[in-house]
Amino acid sequence: MAGHTVLRFVPYRIAPDPLSEPEYEAVCVSGDDADCGAASGTSATPEPVAAWQFTHSGETGHTRFRRTFHEYTVTTPADGSECSIVPRGEQGPS
Ligand SMILES: [Zn+2]
Repeated sequence: MAGHTVLRFVPYRIAPDPLSEPEYEAVCVSGDDADCGAASGTSATPEPVAAWQFTHSGETGHTRFRRTFHEYTVTTPADGSECSIVPRGEQGPS
C-alpha cells in the first residue's frame, strides 16, 4: 500500500523503577586453580555486601571479589506525559 509515514521523535528518559530495588552482590574470585565462589547474596544497598567482604577476607584471607550492581529502570517520555511507547512492530499504517 502506498502512503507515507509521519515520524514523531519524542525524547525519553530512563529512571529507576520505583517498584523494584537495586541489587548489589559480591562473589569471591580468589583462588589459584579455581575461584572460591563464595557469594554475599543480594542486597538493596552496598553496605551489607562490603561488610560480608570484610568478614570473608578476615576468615579466609581471600581478597579478590567480583562485584555486581543491577538496577531496574523504566523508559518514560521526558516531558512526564502519559503518552505510551508504541513498539515499532505494532504501529499500523497512518
Ligand atoms: Zn573466598
